[in-house]
Amino acid sequence: MSGEVRNVIIIGSGPAGYTAGLYAARALLEPLMFAGYMSGGQLMLTSDVENFPGYPTGIDGPEMMVHMREQAERFGLEVQDKNVERVDFSERPFGVWVEGDEYRAEAVIICTGAEAIWLGAEGEEAQKGRGISTCATCDGAFFRDDEVIVVGGGDSAMEEATFLTRFASKVTIIHRREGFRASKVMYERAASHPKIEIRTHRSVKRWLSDENGLSGAVLEDPRDGSEDKIACTGAFIAIGHKPMTGFLDGEVEMDDSGYILHSEHTMTSVPGVFAAGDVVDKRYRQAITAAGMGCQAAMDAEKWLEDQH
Ligand code: NAP
Repeated sequence: MSGEVRNVIIIGSGPAGYTAGLYAARALLEPLMFAGYMSGGQLMLTSDVENFPGYPTGIDGPEMMVHMREQAERFGLEVQDKNVERVDFSERPFGVWVEGDEYRAEAVIICTGAEAIWLGAEGEEAQKGRGISTCATCDGAFFRDDEVIVVGGGDSAMEEATFLTRFASKVTIIHRREGFRASKVMYERAASHPKIEIRTHRSVKRWLSDENGLSGAVLEDPRDGSEDKIACTGAFIAIGHKPMTGFLDGEVEMDDSGYILHSEHTMTSVPGVFAAGDVVDKRYRQAITAAGMGCQAAMDAEKWLEDQH
């Protein structure tokens, strides 16, 4: 990289990143985005998005991300599908390292989102990609006419289970307690589906396998420790996400779970460094709220840059 200093570098490319890119580009800040090797964020792993306003019949997650990217690029967002390895926010312009190259920017907007959490039950490592997955959209079609389970009680679990009925002969949702975090509409859709069975008060204690891969799981009732088994050749873990902030190495303030903390509006503890989307938000975590915060971060960055001159 030459000695060029960018106005804004955006790290991450979900709805927050692309919206920040759109607004920063339209503010003529000529933003540069490092979108990551797997650009597009969590929506690349989602099937139908039915709750983003403006799509009366819903839209495919990956298609929506292509639209968002094209829209931002039309106004001049420069996108590189590379991962940021580390940052240095101790002096301005800020340092961002990508594949060994150093980039500098007056302002940085972090939109790296969150990634799926694995259960960590006994036998899980060996069966990852051989039957156990965190993405039904990616792997569901491998389980045509099979019996599969989905672990979790939130919207993700309901969505994954409903999606899997396209392929699987039976889908069992395994949830550790009675109550569900899932929205009523998504719970009802799953609960009323003839191919879906819901089993509550069950956790996966151990995964079972044979020469073909996953064959089932030993389930435990958390109330009394009693055990039973379920047969399945596919298992989808949908128990939530963790923020992708490891590369920051503590350069901005975060909470105990690694979510970035805002200090003023969308600015982090470092003036000139902003954050938006699931990397700061463990409450709403919606495409529309991430996009809204991406807009706020770009506007805050623009105002902050103006104030520096
Ligand atoms: P979530 O709402 O946090 O739900 C996670 C679920 O996993 C909870 O039921 C939780 O059980 C369970 N869980 C957590 N750790 C576990 C463990 N170690 N063992 C067993 N179960 C465990 O996560 P999410 O479903 O991924 O949803 C995240 C956000 O995205 C939500 O705001 C949701 O509305 C949104 N979302 C929306 C859509 C949509 O509208 N199309 C689709 C997917 C997600 P407890 O309840 O007992 O803690």
